[in-house]
Amino acid sequence: MANAPTHRPPVPVTTWAARTADVAGTTVHRLLPRRAARTVGAWCFLDHFGPATVDGSAPMSVGAHPHLGLHTVTWLFEGRLVHADSLGTEQPIRPGQLNLMTAGNGVAHAEDGRAMASGTVHGVQLWVAQPDATRRGPAGFAHHAELPSVRLASGTATVLLGELDGHASPAGVDTPIVGADLALDGRVDLTLRPDFEHGIAVLAGGITVEGTSAGADEFALLGSGRHGIAVEAAPGTRALLLGGRPFEEELFMWWNFVGRDAGDIDRAIADWQDGSPRFGEVATTLDRMSAPTPVWRR
Ligand code: MN
Repeated sequence: MANAPTHRPPVPVTTWAARTADVAGTTVHRLLPRRAARTVGAWCFLDHFGPATVDGSAPMSVGAHPHLGLHTVTWLFEGRLVHADSLGTEQPIRPGQLNLMTAGNGVAHAEDGRAMASGTVHGVQLWVAQPDATRRGPAGFAHHAELPSVRLASGTATVLLGELDGHASPAGVDTPIVGADLALDGRVDLTLRPDFEHGIAVLAGGITVEGTSAGADEFALLGSGRHGIAVEAAPGTRALLLGGRPFEEELFMWWNFVGRDAGDIDRAIADWQDGSPRFGEVATTLDRMSAPTPVWRR
């Protein structure tokens, strides 16, 4: 077996609880990044928002703001938002649909929930870091209304990115990756790629993997080297399986930007504040966001 790939042996499962953060007046649960896991594959950011009630306010309505060097992945469980970006896109998103925006060297967008008169907004926003090969490339946007569904022993997986059990998402990013929305009611055996590192973000309910439990808004890091994992899930569990080839490039993240050093971020902030065509214009009546002053310039 001289040609067999060598992988690091699996490490014990570790968990952490989300931090809370404020996004446009809505409290969110931030599960990534962490000091212990700046990235899982190329996944570098995960916010779980809601369920938040629409009662005169419009939770998760975020005015025009820029991005750099990443893909945004928006996935809803309840509610409706309208995405508008500087490419001229205006795209409503509903549960079961995926919005995938590519920032490349610069894009701006807004998320507007004001069309909802009542109900709740509940979903996740994730970022996938772009590698050096594409991070200065063109911006893009894709909406995927149909994603493959995988029947599991006790539940269903919807494949957002990559492939699970031979079911491939039509959505594409720049590095080998997997992301799946898991609706679980009992024990499932998930197939994993040993060359990927993985984690499971629990959004509702709870899971136990290899004797370690994670509840709502907790993240279970599985590491790499696994061909699969048995997940014992409480009824009504909702979780995200995230994985990918370990991302070897050192990231420098600040506000909505993913770069490689402070210079990348300083230039992006200056260009956004100057209204540079690099980020373009977003057709929205929500307020344009101002970049915060980074800590290294205070
Ligand atoms: Mn954004």
